[in-house]
Amino acid sequence: MARIQIEGLGKQFGATTAVDAVDLTVEDGEFVALLGPSGCGKTTLLRMLAGLSAPSAGRILLNGTDITHASPKDRDLAMVFQSYALYPHLTVAGNLSYPLRSSRVPRARVAEQVAAVAEQLALTPFLSRRPKELSGGQRQRVAVGRAMVRNPAAFLMDEPLSNLDAKLRTATRTELAALHRRLGATFVYVTHDQVEAMTMASRIVVMDGGRVEQVGTPEEVYDSPASVFVATFLGAPPMNVLPATVTSADGRVRADGDGIRAELWPGQTPPHEVVVGVRPEHLVRRGPDGVDAGILLDARVEAVENLGSEEVAQCRVGDTPVAVRGPRPLRLAVGDQVSLTCSLADLHLFDATTRRRLR
Ligand code: ATP
Repeated sequence: MARIQIEGLGKQFGATTAVDAVDLTVEDGEFVALLGPSGCGKTTLLRMLAGLSAPSAGRILLNGTDITHASPKDRDLAMVFQSYALYPHLTVAGNLSYPLRSSRVPRARVAEQVAAVAEQLALTPFLSRRPKELSGGQRQRVAVGRAMVRNPAAFLMDEPLSNLDAKLRTATRTELAALHRRLGATFVYVTHDQVEAMTMASRIVVMDGGRVEQVGTPEEVYDSPASVFVATFLGAPPMNVLPATVTSADGRVRADGDGIRAELWPGQTPPHEVVVGVRPEHLVRRGPDGVDAGILLDARVEAVENLGSEEVAQCRVGDTPVAVRGPRPLRLAVGDQVSLTCSLADLHLFDATTRRRLR
């Protein structure tokens, strides 16, 4: 069992604040993904959990016990690195048994554990090979297996799939998610890949500049992003965001900008300057009769990309790039001047100053 509480955790590297006052509780058995762009502090946060980096501030509790300054081997947490960190001179069996042998587990028990883990990860045929005689995917499984033999309370994984090619990454994603369900252990998983986070995690922690921007289920962070940063980090293409100014007349509240007109919600009194957000898959071309629009954009189509089953039209509304995504054919052609619309329910609204979600 592993419940990890992180309280006010911070890390300074000289003048650089890598992790800034992070509060987070990972419940027992959860699969939590730390997601964010390069340099946002996710690896540093994970390394502090593993005991590989000393926090500058705050505490880490494992099942209620303060482990902030405990050594890595006393934490009952196993780390899986991006580089796999396998011993090149040892066989797969040697690599798998290493963590047990170094903690003086009886020989017969070591063999039993290694055989069981190899079986679970389909590594039995490769036990006598060395890492250089394995494919990337097999090496990755050995790295996971080496973490599993100790039967740790939690797994800490730092971009474990990033060295795999696209096809293998997809397959391994499914395997890891299944492994998590089977083991029922707590997983904390660092990635900059939103698809990995969305498909495997039960909760996603979106980070930026050392801080937590939002914590939520994949649905929550995608459907109700807490900030412009989260809105534009998730999605392919990401959410369109357009600056607008709020006006109120005749009991109607509107947001107007360059080529954009949005009807807002009655009774709402947003600040003067807002950012209106709409996902590319929610925008459609307005027919000749129009629809009951939440938003109306005057767009010029600049490029159309064929994704196979779908198309993405890259447009411009005033000076702002806006993407439209939908089933092929979208019936938008380069050079078209079109009106784009979406329903009120699909409109997101952010404060232009704080960049936080209003609705
Ligand atoms: P990536 O996805 O590129 O690995 P990340 O989100 O994991 O990025 P970190 O590696 O945690 O980011 O780094 C966070 C910040 O701390 C960055 O600005 C980085 O340059 C800085 N940093 C990390 N480790 C050190 C170090 N040992 N010394 C100085 N600065 C560091």
